[in-house]
Amino acid sequence: MTVSKLQTRVVLSGICTGCGICVTLAKNGKARMIQGPSGLIPEFDTPCELPELAWTACPGKGVDYPELYKEHYGELPADWRVGHINKLWTGYASDPVIRRAGASGGTTTAVLIYLLETGRIDAAILAKQGTPTAERASWFIAKTREDILSCVQSVYVPVAMLDCLAHLETGKKYAITLVPEQSAALRVLQHSGHELAQKIEFVLGPYTGTALDPRAVRSLLRANKVANDDPITSLKWRAGEWPGYLEIITASGREIRSKKVYYNFLIPFYVTQTSLQSMDFANEFTDLSVGDAWSPKFESLGQGFSVIASRSEKMTAILEEMAISDLIQLTQADVLEASSMHGHMIDFKKRGGYLRNQWRKKIGKIAPDYGLSPVGTGASRILVEVIITSIFIVCRTPIARWIMEQIPEKILGPLFNNLRLAWKNASKPAKRKGLKDLRMVTHEPDWAKIK
Ligand SMILES: Cc1cc2nc3c(=O)[nH]c(=O)nc-3n(C[C@H](O)[C@H](O)[C@H](O)COP(=O)(O)OP(=O)(O)OC[C@H]3O[C@@H](n4cnc5c(N)ncnc54)[C@H](O)[C@@H]3O)c2cc1C
Repeated sequence: MTVSKLQTRVVLSGICTGCGICVTLAKNGKARMIQGPSGLIPEFDTPCELPELAWTACPGKGVDYPELYKEHYGELPADWRVGHINKLWTGYASDPVIRRAGASGGTTTAVLIYLLETGRIDAAILAKQGTPTAERASWFIAKTREDILSCVQSVYVPVAMLDCLAHLETGKKYAITLVPEQSAALRVLQHSGHELAQKIEFVLGPYTGTALDPRAVRSLLRANKVANDDPITSLKWRAGEWPGYLEIITASGREIRSKKVYYNFLIPFYVTQTSLQSMDFANEFTDLSVGDAWSPKFESLGQGFSVIASRSEKMTAILEEMAISDLIQLTQADVLEASSMHGHMIDFKKRGGYLRNQWRKKIGKIAPDYGLSPVGTGASRILVEVIITSIFIVCRTPIARWIMEQIPEKILGPLFNNLRLAWKNASKPAKRKGLKDLRMVTHEPDWAKIK
């Protein structure tokens, strides 16, 4: 029953996030994650038995956020932009090697190493680009400092992190890095008392705006006139000095480097459905969420700065301990300052995600429901979303992708960046209006009624 419900209402409907939690819950290992046409999806043997929990925890159809806030934090968030915060800072890893290697200052890596070296965990489950091939990414169990360092940086394609749970050792304690919908799904499992989920002591994860369909990589290579049969030997999403560049090396010796602000042009052409439907930007169910500290002040300094949000007492104590030992640099920040660095993305998720999901339903498609609706989304904001959604619809067609590949990146990169900045400024009043006092009303998700 649960298998067919997941297959028809989530996977075939195109809203599966590819997290892997249902694969973990499948009895006798009768399921696996496979590469579908536009991302990872579960494949189930017939027959395959799945508990109802696989449906409840499935973030593709949506997790009941109001219920989870109450279960996990005891109440709804005071600030709807970033969720429950225990303490908030800007900062970076003190070790210059970790700071430079990291996506936005190496905080996540420094904390993971500290958790391991102080015996709080036995290992960390991390996303690793380059497994099983340079082009792909999957979870990796890091047991040493070197292992953790080998997983540094962001992976901007989906990684099925949660099918790792059945592979963990009994009696061992783990940290894991997860994107927002995965963190929420794992918390559902933990609160249900599921044994495998109790092995996770710490959840860390990035603020997550948009991820890319893995086909974006080949598309970028074609735009750079790299042959389809020239295999990738190495791929780094955030190489070099912050904010970094995408670096791809191929077997024939081609080296493609694209600045982060330039390869963003791939987003409208290859954004994942998960990025469009999620309403959680700040990774609200982690112990520690980290994002880039996007602000003129920090960007002019370079080197790497993060926004660092601790969501639990135990994580705050660890970060403060690390700061005293000079392993990490922390400057206390307030929610307003931190949110203003990510206003566009918070709005993209909280209001945009809601509108996009509503529109999917209106045209008869299945959409996730998180039990949350933003209050007072004005007409100008709805118009902005009509424009954004139209751009995504057009750009994600095969013909638009083909046209994009014909335009040299040195033209498209700067052109897109200028257009993006112009659009950001033009849409700012509508997007920021009311964001400071963003409120959400809660409801029982529709899917709770689906039998
Ligand atoms: C898909 C995606 C979209 C993002 N969008 C934004 C954004 O819009 N705005 C913003 O401010 N920040 C965004 N970030 C976060 C940012 O890129 C950095 O990851 C974050 O600031 C942490 O930096 P760090 O230097 O502390 O991380 P590092 O020290 O480099 O460590 C990163 C850790 O996270 C793990 N990790 C990387 N990617 C994934 C993944 N996909 N799933 C699970 N674990 C992973 C790695 O294994 C590594 O251990 C995004 C990250 C991702 C993965």
